[in-house]
Amino acid sequence: MADGFRSTLLLNLITLTICLTLLHINHQVGWPNIAWYAAAVIVIGMRAYVMNALARRGKLLTAPKASLRFLSLGALALGIIWAALPWTIPDFQPLGEHAALFLIMGGMAAGAVIKQIGYTPLALNYSIPILLSLVINLIGHWRPNEVLVGLCLSLMIVIFIRRSMWAERMFVSSQVARHEATALADSLTRANSDILRQNSRLEALANRDTLTGLANRMFFHGRLAGDIARAKVVDEQVALLIFDVERFQSINDTLGHSAGDALLREIAARLGSIIEDGSLIARLGGDEFAVIVSGAEALERARSHAAAVLEASRQPIHWSQRQAVVGLSVGLAAYPDHADNAEELLACADMALYDAKRGDRRQLREFDPDLRRNAERKRIIEQDLERAIQTGALSAWFQPQVDLLTRRITGFEALVRWQHPQLGFVSPPEIVSAARTVHLSEQLTARIARDACLLARRLPEIGLTDVTVALNVSPREFALYSVACMLQGVTAHHGVAPSALEIEITEEAILDPALADEQLKRLEQAGYKLAVDDFGMGHSSLAYLIGLKVDRLKIDRSFVKDVARSETNQKLISAMVSLGQSLSLEIVVEGVETPEDAAILARLGCGTAQGYLFARPMPPSALETWIAEHQSTTLLKRKAKTKHLSVA
Ligand code: C2E
Ligand code: CA
Ligand code: CA
Repeated sequence: MADGFRSTLLLNLITLTICLTLLHINHQVGWPNIAWYAAAVIVIGMRAYVMNALARRGKLLTAPKASLRFLSLGALALGIIWAALPWTIPDFQPLGEHAALFLIMGGMAAGAVIKQIGYTPLALNYSIPILLSLVINLIGHWRPNEVLVGLCLSLMIVIFIRRSMWAERMFVSSQVARHEATALADSLTRANSDILRQNSRLEALANRDTLTGLANRMFFHGRLAGDIARAKVVDEQVALLIFDVERFQSINDTLGHSAGDALLREIAARLGSIIEDGSLIARLGGDEFAVIVSGAEALERARSHAAAVLEASRQPIHWSQRQAVVGLSVGLAAYPDHADNAEELLACADMALYDAKRGDRRQLREFDPDLRRNAERKRIIEQDLERAIQTGALSAWFQPQVDLLTRRITGFEALVRWQHPQLGFVSPPEIVSAARTVHLSEQLTARIARDACLLARRLPEIGLTDVTVALNVSPREFALYSVACMLQGVTAHHGVAPSALEIEITEEAILDPALADEQLKRLEQAGYKLAVDDFGMGHSSLAYLIGLKVDRLKIDRSFVKDVARSETNQKLISAMVSLGQSLSLEIVVEGVETPEDAAILARLGCGTAQGYLFARPMPPSALETWIAEHQSTTLLKRKAKTKHLSVA
């Protein structure tokens, strides 16, 4: 506005000067014209000053209406000065020699109205005095020409005023419409940017893990599939690392979920600070993190990331005013080396991780095809186990136990056997672990207990009395169901006295008294014999052993093997025998394979033995023959021994 105003003032100054020049050319300049010109210049100067002052103080924006009113006064003053021009000239002839001045004045008045459409008072203040002055001058001459032009001019003034007021209304409404349109456009722009912001927030929510800020599982899957598709085209590798936090569940359980969350955030930050080559780090859920390494040398880079993370995991992590060394296990697999699509690659890395967690913790395990074969084997075992238990494809075989001195049969240990049609021999630990995974531990032990009862019932018929049948119960079963209840059900069903059965539990169970206490007491009270299996491998609490009425200690095979040649093992076994004697516990040695070992063990005071020297585990159908053969050979040996003694 200020710029337009200045140019208007300049135009006024120029036209005023032209008017004075015209008068000068006509030799009509007198002091009234000089005074008129001076007054006009002063008013123009003042208007320029006022405009500048208003603009400087920002009044044009803060108080536009008041400013315009102020400026209108200036316009009026300038209009009056223009209007005064004809009176400064003696005998002003508007249609005669002063027609040029008349045209200039009329033009200035008309121009002002056209220019100031937005604010009519400003234009009218300026132009009406000029036009009125012209009309008065014209009519004042009282000549038909002048009167007619004067009347025309008057009519023009009326039309001017009306048109300019109409124009102002139009202008105002068009300005309002323009402002409304601008405001609408603004608000649309704002709405649009709001939508964009919301979209990016939603996108972040959909792609980010809210706890750690890392990529989430969904984003991870998309990226893995995308990277593999790209790698197929450019013939590169994609390596996948999966990290698992050791004992995270117990941290969560003991310190609470918020401490667990804080720990996960710390681990995420640590991964981020170590892996800085742009590889995607994601949290797959729980305590599992994944890293996708793509591009050149992907497998090598993944290996070095894993090594760096494992190295850093030796340093304590500080979180929530706590600190601890938190171990990690890592599985690694790569496309195209191990798998040719994202799903398979993830499964391979998972298998490697699973294996890493089984072995020495804090290690990197790289996928190899054996892992897939093992996993497949495990899957088949788990899938077929229930049917095998039900159909009897899985059953107990028995290994005899004998008195080391007399070779009398004192018992049998039931050992699970399963010849799988496709997999062949499935080892007992595989069976026990699969049963735990598919929640069949109770059915499995019940099946072996049933076979043990059938044997216990048959033994007196074969002529073996005072012989126990032992069965193994894995310590973790105590947490799953009531072993005593199940056994009582099975023994009662087969009419077998609980004392005919012995329950072998490993030291592990005894190490966790809270878990085993009640169950072991119930077994003992129900009349079952108890044996501590694999004795010497753990750290049985002596006090606890005394408190628990255990009947026998089974010394672990590792001490027995080659005992004849190992003085250390002899000493250890001797110590265990003394311990057993002082607690009135019978000692059983298992894994006896040679007559030399048997002789040493007998000398060391071991009472009962089990091992390949006497018999391998055998199916119940083979037992009768073995028992008969065993008894006849021991009888023969005994006879030979007595003969030898009597000859001597
Ligand atoms: P364990 O209770 O220590 O069983 C003795 C293991 O030593 C048996 O292995 C047996 O075959 C083997 N053995 C016996 N004498 C000798 C010998 O002279 N030399 C050698 N080298 N080995 C001998 P098996 O049958 O493979 O069982 C392995 C383990 O699996 C068992 O160790 C036991 O802990 C577990 N197990 C077996 N059957 C069952 C079951 O029905 N339930 C549960 N929960 N665990 C079972
Ligand atoms: Ca055993
Ligand atoms: Ca054992």
